[in-house]
Amino acid sequence: MTNITSREIRLKQRPVGMPTPDDFDLTTVTLAEPGAGEVLVQNLYMSVDPYMRGRMADRKSYVPPFALGEALQGGAVGQVVRSNHPNFQSGDYVLSMLGWREYFVSDGRGLRVITPGGAPLQAFLGVAGMPGQTAYFGLLDIGQPKAGETVFVSAAAGAVGSVVCQIAKLKGCRVVGSAGAADKVAWLRDEIGIDAAFNYKENADLKATVAEHCPNGIDIYFENVGGAHLEAALAVMNNHGRIPVCGMISLYNATTATAAPTNLGNIIGKRLKLQGFIVTDYQARAGEFYAEMLPWIAAGKIKWQETIVEGIDQAPAAFMGLFTGDNLGKMLVKLA
Ligand code: NDP
Repeated sequence: MTNITSREIRLKQRPVGMPTPDDFDLTTVTLAEPGAGEVLVQNLYMSVDPYMRGRMADRKSYVPPFALGEALQGGAVGQVVRSNHPNFQSGDYVLSMLGWREYFVSDGRGLRVITPGGAPLQAFLGVAGMPGQTAYFGLLDIGQPKAGETVFVSAAAGAVGSVVCQIAKLKGCRVVGSAGAADKVAWLRDEIGIDAAFNYKENADLKATVAEHCPNGIDIYFENVGGAHLEAALAVMNNHGRIPVCGMISLYNATTATAAPTNLGNIIGKRLKLQGFIVTDYQARAGEFYAEMLPWIAAGKIKWQETIVEGIDQAPAAFMGLFTGDNLGKMLVKLA
């Protein structure tokens, strides 16, 4: 057996504002053969996700910051190449948090064997994985949708947003989505079949646009973006509306304190419920998600898109592309 060469992306410096290629290093490492109780895994796909931007900053959060000079981490699906571990066989597909590298050796902790069936392997990083769970629990647990209600979704053509839109439709809601490009709006309206969608970049008066597309007001605003989107939604929310606060991507690269919406008073007068959440809060209930989502996928009730870039060297560009809207659906990097 020979040693294995693997390329990985390390965090070279902490980004200030929008990340740039200079913040990342592509490094080649040599891995030793797996020892007793260890497996060698080749990553096939890795995920880039907006939350990783938060981990690039040195501040206290719900997950520790990435260390400088070390390989980044994130969701990945790979295949076991060699196993000296009783729970893994050569050829098994595994989900891990050891993305941003081509190969790794592990003692098996944090690895989960997955069986691609109704959905392709990489869907475990998207619709059948973390983003899908985020959509499912955020909408159903916090949003509590009821048939006939209006659900407004920002970043609606993204990994999380597009699943929120479709679950809301399955629950009998009227769904309105906002996205930043014409092809995204067309996909939402014509293929996913939501009730209305618009390009927020072409609508200077966001409040008026949201109001126009939600003539009966908003009962649930699924918050992915923050800033002007939140302000517009607050203005159009109905009494007793719910706002699952999933993310605020428009603020992640801010270098100065950003102004809060000017109309937060609506929370009181309209008796709104805003609740932040982290998908890992629902880890113990993941079974509920799979029990419903996998049959929906098998039945063709949930559709999805992927934007796939190839090669570990392209991973930083894929990550940066999340902040310029380069992705329709889930942004992924194909490694092998
Ligand atoms: P997406 O697939 O939605 O990709 C990000 C999208 O955000 C881009 O394609 C872009 O679409 C949009 N966007 C980027 N910058 C801006 C901006 N300044 N203003 C408006 N839209 C912008 O990513 P995910 O589905 O993975 O994540 C969506 C949100 O959910 C993020 O806020 C993320 O942090 C959050 N999240 C939260 C989790 C949790 O546990 N709470 C777990 C997973 C995700 P467009 O073309 O429409 O502008």
